[in-house]
Amino acid sequence: MSSLGMITGNTRILGVMGYPVAHSFSPVMYNAAFAHSGLDWVYLAFSVPPGNLPEALAGLRALGMTGANLTIPHKEAALKHLDYLTPEADLIGAVNVLRIENDLLIGHNTDGTGFLQSLSREANFIPQQKKVLILGAGGAARAVALTLARRGALEIVIANRTQQRGVELALEVQKKTGVKAEGISLEPEALAAAVQTADLVVQASSVGMYPQSEAPDWFKPEWLSPSTLVCDLIYRPRPTRFLQLADQRGCLTLDGLGMLLYQGVQSFTWWTGLTAPVEIMRQALERWVPD
Ligand code: NAP
Repeated sequence: MSSLGMITGNTRILGVMGYPVAHSFSPVMYNAAFAHSGLDWVYLAFSVPPGNLPEALAGLRALGMTGANLTIPHKEAALKHLDYLTPEADLIGAVNVLRIENDLLIGHNTDGTGFLQSLSREANFIPQQKKVLILGAGGAARAVALTLARRGALEIVIANRTQQRGVELALEVQKKTGVKAEGISLEPEALAAAVQTADLVVQASSVGMYPQSEAPDWFKPEWLSPSTLVCDLIYRPRPTRFLQLADQRGCLTLDGLGMLLYQGVQSFTWWTGLTAPVEIMRQALERWVPD
């Protein structure tokens, strides 16, 4: 429902395209924000199979929609259908938010900067001159690695089950940002050494995500020192078993809800030009994301 409590002829439509998408928490977060901000805007979830993406993007433009979010599996596939990319989308090579302006489709990425904002707001952590270990080399790891490197991290180590994927991401980080980066395996000796020297460990693999509840069995919490900030990008369950174990080691921990929130906060502002009602959006997520 728009802020007027009803859909009108003037209601502007936005939404998230994904496949599957019914589990998405974006509609509750953005609709709460639009209503609080007095905008006659509404946000829906669109189930778009991969083969239908070109038509769905053309449809956004044809219907004069304001914008959209993209989620799995569309973030990289959309690139070739867009008219412009912002520097953030170009750096990461993926798009999680779109805006239609003068009939042009503009792609942007707020995943990496959303994570960065969560780090600074919720853990008072700035990446400059910091050593970062990222577990995983998928889409989320890519956004985090490239953004932290661009914002001045000293060194990025990417540990991934498929080591070659991590090596390739590390090479890309180094090439695009000039920051030293290395891809390693999950073999205990290499991983233990990387954990022991890291200022920040980011768990960006999908291990431990609902309906799973186990921590990665290849990661030993005893490698962590209490001065290391430990993040898990997963926001369900909250907290993950991985974060519980890090907490027991005395580490400051951060779950993935902040990244979800701040990528949304930044998308809201990019679409509306308004300051986002952060606490309203957080409350909507906390109310709807199950523990
Ligand atoms: P993805 O592209 O599918 O990548 C999955 C990653 O997990 C890969 O590195 C994969 O390794 C690794 N992995 C999967 N199963 C594994 C196992 N059994 N052992 C070791 N490694 C394993 O997924 P993604 O989009 O990057 O998402 C990763 C996580 O981040 C998900 O849990 C997602 O919910 C979360 N996320 C959170 C936010 C947020 O806003 N908080 C945003 C995006 C994603 P291989 O390369 O070897 O397959």
